[in-house]
Amino acid sequence: MKIEKIQVLRGPNIWSIRRPNLIQMRLDLQEIEHLPTNKIPGFRERLERLIPSLITHRCSEGVEGGFFQRVEMGTWMGHVIEHVALEIQTVAGMDTGFGRTRETKTPGVYNVVFSYLEENSGVYAAEQSVEIARCLIENIDYDMEVCIQTLREIRERHRLGPSTGSIVEEAVSRRIPWIRLGRNSLVQLGYGVNQQRFQATITGNTSSIAVEIACNKELTKRMLDEAAIPVPWGDLVSDEEALRTVIEKIGYPIVIKPLDGNHGKGSSINVNDFETALTGLQHAQAFSQNVIVERYITGYDFRILVINNKMVAAARRVPAHVIGDGNLNIQQLIEKENLDPRRGYGHEKVLTEITVDKDTNELLEKLHYTLDSVPKNGEIVYLKSTANLSTGGTSIDVTDMVHPENITMAERVSRIIGLDVCGIDVMAENLTQPLKESGGAILEVNAAPGFRMHLAPSEGLPRNVAAPVVDMLYPPGKPAKIPIIAVTGTNGKTTTTRLIAHIVKNNGFRVGFTTSDGIYIQNVMLTKGDTTGPVSAEFVLKDPTVEFAVLETARGGILRSGLGFKSCDIGVLTNIKEDHLGMNDVHNLRDLTKVKRVVMDSVKKDGWSVMNADDEYSMRLMPELESKVALFSLDEENPHMKKYAKEGKISCVYEEGFITIKKGDWKIRIIKATHVPITMEAKAKFMIANVLAASLAAYLHGFAIDDIANSLRTFIPSPVLTPGRLNIFKFKKFQVLIDFAHNPAGYEAIEEYLKNVEATKKIGIISGVGDRRDEDIRQCGKIAGRMFDYIIIRNEKHLRGRTEDEINELIINGMQQAGKNVSYEIIPKEIEALKHAMSMAEEGTFITALSDVVTNAIDLVQEYQNRELLEEG
Ligand code: ATP
Ligand code: ATP
Ligand code: MG
Ligand code: MG
Repeated sequence: MKIEKIQVLRGPNIWSIRRPNLIQMRLDLQEIEHLPTNKIPGFRERLERLIPSLITHRCSEGVEGGFFQRVEMGTWMGHVIEHVALEIQTVAGMDTGFGRTRETKTPGVYNVVFSYLEENSGVYAAEQSVEIARCLIENIDYDMEVCIQTLREIRERHRLGPSTGSIVEEAVSRRIPWIRLGRNSLVQLGYGVNQQRFQATITGNTSSIAVEIACNKELTKRMLDEAAIPVPWGDLVSDEEALRTVIEKIGYPIVIKPLDGNHGKGSSINVNDFETALTGLQHAQAFSQNVIVERYITGYDFRILVINNKMVAAARRVPAHVIGDGNLNIQQLIEKENLDPRRGYGHEKVLTEITVDKDTNELLEKLHYTLDSVPKNGEIVYLKSTANLSTGGTSIDVTDMVHPENITMAERVSRIIGLDVCGIDVMAENLTQPLKESGGAILEVNAAPGFRMHLAPSEGLPRNVAAPVVDMLYPPGKPAKIPIIAVTGTNGKTTTTRLIAHIVKNNGFRVGFTTSDGIYIQNVMLTKGDTTGPVSAEFVLKDPTVEFAVLETARGGILRSGLGFKSCDIGVLTNIKEDHLGMNDVHNLRDLTKVKRVVMDSVKKDGWSVMNADDEYSMRLMPELESKVALFSLDEENPHMKKYAKEGKISCVYEEGFITIKKGDWKIRIIKATHVPITMEAKAKFMIANVLAASLAAYLHGFAIDDIANSLRTFIPSPVLTPGRLNIFKFKKFQVLIDFAHNPAGYEAIEEYLKNVEATKKIGIISGVGDRRDEDIRQCGKIAGRMFDYIIIRNEKHLRGRTEDEINELIINGMQQAGKNVSYEIIPKEIEALKHAMSMAEEGTFITALSDVVTNAIDLVQEYQNRELLEEG
């Protein structure tokens, strides 16, 4: 077996719209292709022994153990690998279960697809599942424990922490999109101008001053004290002398801790003599220049969480501990405690496993215990000095028991410090009495308080404390998203995208759009190149100035990693025609439809799919779409259009020379096509089709007819604005047209246009694109043969896997099928070919240069134009 490729899909994709996070592994089974599981002696038994929990996989049998039955009856190894990959992730604490395994057109080569929760772990699961299968086949030992532990470690390294994760989950449940920024826990919610950011439980609104105050425990205490909120007496201390003075003032017992510490690091609690105090001072100084010495308050650790100045939860936190039974020693008690299924590795479960560290040993030492000591029955032995969950502590929800006076106090604290998400640490016997009565005090106030103790307390009610954070960031009525129009199809995507973006801009929105020429915000190109994939879409959606996104969304990106957005408001499918067939397992128009439909399937249910009624494959797809559909067509008599009109539906049509919106049979004429410059006086039918699609999308979004008309009137084609899309250069005697057409449909579009062009002679400069199928290259040759009187064949710089001769032969072969004997010559260099064509041009000649890369051609022709102007004087 050989892994050919592992792809990480992160957005809606060809396998699933609702499960964006998938691993797609291209796997060549090689010799195993002929070895289904029932032909491998002992395979099922070994699999069952290695991963017994696979018993839960029902598979197509639909019953527990169903998957094992399939293995028994005989199934393909790709299928086994898919199940193994899912199960090892689940065992490692990442419960997930979507999978598909499909053979590609290449026999023995499969796409094994399965879901992941954390992508690095997903990739590791892919590799290991193949390795596991190999070991099972060859009857070699495989160390499952190492695999699972590695998966856990990868997960803990990369995945969002529990607090961040809970906010993301809450956002997702409200259909608010999110994007992880960078590798840590910085997250963007929403899109464009409507985005909000947070990192762990610090939000974009968290005041920097507030965080600074909270981090300074001395300042915090002083401010609270001045507001009559109980805090432990104490002072800052820097040396032995000062320590002595403070102790004289406050008396024992005391606590010594670093001024700006966290997680209890460097703290000495319940100190009762000067010698220990001195060591405590040195210990704390290792963490911070400044050290606090304060009264030791007796009681329990409580945490009150205040969000947006409202108390949302309170918990009692208990440090990791064991309770003696008079029988087991401490080590054994810890092991027993760790067997609790709620305890797991890192943040994988509600509780964390207890480990023995320096802190534990020091605590035990104080009790004159070792790990071998046997505590009395019922005796509580604390193993950590602080109650953090990450060191094995537990938490008990007490939200409903907090005295109203304490609630008011907590809410005052959050305002005094100024924190929007505020964790208040209270030491007290209870929270049911006002602190003043219980003798409790506020020890500190935390910015970025952890949520896990409230989300999943070990006792008491779990509290969804992520919800108030999202409520705060997105109060009712505040949108999270921006309108998104996604444009896909074989031809006309860029032009349609630009047209829509132009209309959007003219309606006063700041528009971000992606095209195969580059990414633009408003009028400025920010990156150049083919930017039609998910990274480019995210670029636009991340930009905090963008109010409206129009996204050209091409095949390549969808296949590589899925869409860069979860859903869109309007999807435009221009057409589905032969191009790129034979690449990436896309062999025919049905395959291609599956890819393009990902965009249409991502349209919101109450959004619109804009579809081409003149396009066969688009119309085959139409009945399967879940969104509302609106059609466009160049022909009012198109049967789909007539049916649509009868049903009273919305469409856009070219009729009597007008671009017209139809609602049922009512017509709203937007503009005469001849007044839309991009249509070349209505001579370029395919441009009219693009105008119809763009106008319809704009109309459906809610733009006014007049505004659409004005925009269409002012969208002027030019080599700068629309390079390579029907750029015409006029010379005194002749004209040159430069266009991007590079597939049969594009050639036909040009053929149609040329029919409307008057010329004494039509010269064509064409080339074949190496990575297309034979029949596509031949077909382009044939159309060229039909539309030109004379042809110059040139070659692309990148031959993409073929020789020049091979390509040229296919073209010539196609030309000969055109049914008329066109003369031709071969001039490999594009520039030379163009120069030659211009030199042979006579009065009324029309030269058409069709090219994949147009910039050089445009530069040359413009240079010639300038020269002609100069000569004229
Ligand atoms: P964390 O990050 O866990 O909040 P920290 O380093 O910020 O820890 P504190 O919260 O000040 O430190 O103290 C940690 C723990 O030490 C408290 O939860 C409490 O159990 C104990 N503690 C601190 N100060 C006192 C005090 N004055 N009286 C009693 N216990 C105290
Ligand atoms: P690409 O896949 O290269 O990004 P695209 O879909 O973005 O292409 P455009 O850049 O808008 O398409 O147009 C490229 C060429 O395709 C045009 O120059 C023209 O020859 C042809 N074309 C444009 N629109 C259509 C259409 N609606 N139908 C057929 N051909 C078209
Ligand atoms: Mg604290
Ligand atoms: Mg394009």
